[in-house]
Amino acid sequence: MHDSRDRELGMHRKITRRDFINGVAVTTGAAMMPWHLLAADEPTFPEKSPNYYPPSLTGMRGSHPGSFETAHSLRDGTFWDSAGKPQDTGETYDLIVVGGGISGLAAAHFYRKIVGAKARILILDNHDDFGGHAKRNEFRIDSAFRLGFGGTFSIESPAPYSAVAKGVIDELGIDVPSYSKYTDQNLYRSLGLRSRIFFDQETFGADKLVINPSHRGGYDSEDVTQGPAALLKQFLADAPLADRAKRDLQRLYEEPNDYFPGLTSDQKKAKLARMSYASFLKDVAGVHEDIVKLYQAMPHPLFGVGIDAVAAQDAWGFDLPGFDGLKLDPTPGKGMNRDAIANEEAEKYFFHFPDGNASIARLLVRKLIPDAIPGNSMPDVILAKANYGKLDDSSSPVHIRLNSTAVRVKHLGDAATAKDVEVSYARCGKVYTAKARNVILACWHVVIPYICEELPDKQKEALASAQKVPLLYTNVAVRNWTSFQKLGVDSVYAPGMYHTYVHLDLPVSIGGYQCSRKPEEPIIVHMMKAACRPGRPAREQHRLGRIELFSTTFETMERKIRDQLARTLGPGGFDPARDIAAITVNRWPHGYAYEYNSLFDSFWLEGGETPCEVARKPYGRIAIANADAGAYAYTDEAINQAWRAVGEITKA
Ligand SMILES: Cc1cc2nc3c(=O)[nH]c(=O)nc-3n(C[C@H](O)[C@H](O)[C@H](O)COP(=O)(O)OP(=O)(O)OC[C@H]3O[C@@H](n4cnc5c(N)ncnc54)[C@H](O)[C@@H]3O)c2cc1C
Repeated sequence: MHDSRDRELGMHRKITRRDFINGVAVTTGAAMMPWHLLAADEPTFPEKSPNYYPPSLTGMRGSHPGSFETAHSLRDGTFWDSAGKPQDTGETYDLIVVGGGISGLAAAHFYRKIVGAKARILILDNHDDFGGHAKRNEFRIDSAFRLGFGGTFSIESPAPYSAVAKGVIDELGIDVPSYSKYTDQNLYRSLGLRSRIFFDQETFGADKLVINPSHRGGYDSEDVTQGPAALLKQFLADAPLADRAKRDLQRLYEEPNDYFPGLTSDQKKAKLARMSYASFLKDVAGVHEDIVKLYQAMPHPLFGVGIDAVAAQDAWGFDLPGFDGLKLDPTPGKGMNRDAIANEEAEKYFFHFPDGNASIARLLVRKLIPDAIPGNSMPDVILAKANYGKLDDSSSPVHIRLNSTAVRVKHLGDAATAKDVEVSYARCGKVYTAKARNVILACWHVVIPYICEELPDKQKEALASAQKVPLLYTNVAVRNWTSFQKLGVDSVYAPGMYHTYVHLDLPVSIGGYQCSRKPEEPIIVHMMKAACRPGRPAREQHRLGRIELFSTTFETMERKIRDQLARTLGPGGFDPARDIAAITVNRWPHGYAYEYNSLFDSFWLEGGETPCEVARKPYGRIAIANADAGAYAYTDEAINQAWRAVGEITKA
């Protein structure tokens, strides 16, 4: 049974995955092997090989094999048992940055602006590619070239960018308002495509694709032909929901009710801040359980958890139904998540590159090491082929050393008076040391207590509380999107499926790169999964989700992807065995920075110092950046925190 279903799904078909074991190339030789698999006598500069080109790898990417094992053995206390004595590289830098994400790259950029372009800087990152979450996925599908985003998707934030973050965006030549020049915004609408909901057999009793009545769940599901009432009517006629559930949904949308009569708006908000949206729906609005299941996964893209762990006050901010009758004052309530606060100016602030914010990382790398990314304009970075051999080259004052996990960061002497900090890092099976006048830890905060033992206990505790949100960002390269066209769909919300969101790639063409415009052409289908465990506190959900992502094989994920696409798009003629050309799963067990949540973080409601303020305090010659330092999972925050950290180490 399993075998025949596997054949239908195309598990036997040759896709690029066949060349990989969980994302590890076995055909291209040592150049692409993770360092820990290299024999001791293999060359220790895989990045110098002409074959070294991580963006074109498919299979398991993101936290790929070879990137996390060292950090996990540090966590488990076993790393130093077999590490051997570190070898001194003899290198001394002005600055060592741990973490080659946007925060680390921005920190190096700011440092050079303040100290001078000759400043010697070493950036260490444990992955085989730079950019942190801002990763580029490349695909060749027959003769077509397609780009996908492996993580950070766009320049956006509910809060408008700070002057500092805007300054970096401007310096990189990114003219945010010019986005409309590059995107074919009406392409999908003009072909009759729109956002739909996939009801699955296991959760709702039938597999069915139904119109999405909400403005949530699509990149832009504003419907120009049907008003909201007509959409809701169509949805209610088609959805495989219990009759009572349908009546309840209509009631939520069309019969406003004041569930808390006698309370002021502030009192109502205070109540909503302390109850989940799932409880609001069940216990306050008294809706049928099908409605709770329907909305369960809707907040996944923002929070990585479902409505059981999102405050009703935040759900009100997102415009989820049920709140109209409460007549709440529109000003944000205490303890609201920043994502839930509407901000008109920020809504205008959007720019999506075909490879997401990997283009920002690449533009920053071009500023730091011009030889590594050829070209000189924002548009030409899209097709520029990075030269990985130049990232760590003696001819440049700035070095980006990939496949290198920092394992120990310590002042040489007392933190208050030391002149240098020593950084030990593991790379290609060996441990090395280098020295620097200053260090910026732009890496994930949960890692810092294991690598920087000298920090005060209170600070280590605050750092450890920054539990990242586990996510999968999956890119499926398909040979055409005629099934999407036949079914009239460009994005799918699938509350009961493995990936809860599926989108056709945004149609953006920049700098010679051409997106797919005709349904007969290859395209990237983006799928998103939040690994969560509904019913538990958010941090606990993240911890369990992280274990799930690290322990699920690529084969299992591939089977789920093929099955989901077959069930969703099969009625439109999609055949996974025939139509899927390649799959890249960007696995991020340490994904979004943890954002404070009024359900679980009492300090967020009550005020006072937040853990991220304690966590990011400078210590001697060490400063701390990363989006975690602002408890806010956005590119602008990664830049803001880099700016603060550089300010701390450069103020005389
Ligand atoms: C799937 C996903 C989608 C996102 N989408 C968006 C979006 O659309 N828009 C947006 O603004 N933001 C988005 N974000 C948030 C994103 O995290 C930030 O925008 C930003 O890219 C974070 O940059 P950073 O440098 O702070 O962290 P990271 O990008 O995480 O970089 C930190 C780097 O440090 C490395 N590191 C950790 N420990 C060590 C060590 N011991 N030694 C060496 N290196 C180490 C990490 O592996 C990582 O490469 C998204 C995040 C994820 C996960």
